[in-house]
Amino acid sequence: MALRNITIKGDEILAKKCKPVKEITPRIAEACADMVDTMIEADGVGIAAPQVGIMKRFFIAMPHVDAEDEETRNKIYVMINPEITYKEGTQESSEGCLSVPGYMGLVDRPYKIRIKGTDLQGEEHEYEFEGFEATVFCHEYDHLDGILYSDIAKDMMTVEEYSEILRELQEKHADDEDADSDNSEIWERKKERDEQ
Ligand SMILES: [Zn+2]
Repeated sequence: MALRNITIKGDEILAKKCKPVKEITPRIAEACADMVDTMIEADGVGIAAPQVGIMKRFFIAMPHVDAEDEETRNKIYVMINPEITYKEGTQESSEGCLSVPGYMGLVDRPYKIRIKGTDLQGEEHEYEFEGFEATVFCHEYDHLDGILYSDIAKDMMTVEEYSEILRELQEKHADDEDADSDNSEIWERKKERDEQ
């Protein structure tokens, strides 16, 4: 297991457009293996090549966090030279990023996407994702174009504030078992706090 250093916001590498992978070399395969280790160690659900200082178009994603079976939860996608081929609908997502530690942001994303890319064996796959999974793939894809979620977020807050608000809302809904705080409630509460 080899961990790589994660590039942090402010490093110009994160703001540049990455170049296509011309050939899947052992170096790319090694980088992918290290990126998986680095992502899991940092408790992330995705990591893109520029986040470990490589200016090439590939990323790793492990997006099925809510899947019931372990195999699906542990499924890791390697996306080399990915292309988003279809977008549908919109959703507001709460996002964090290993390169923007300590913050969360509210971002508009398509609700459903299709994305194709090549795996380490050189085989092309096309997948369809919606909801959280679609967000993960859009977020990682953006890294390859030098876009951080914090560049396009409608609002941002610290992880501490986010946890505080979640706790507040849990208390508020404590009597109502069915009420789950959704994104919009969390960010509305943040606005109220800003105005106070
Ligand atoms: Zn990120």
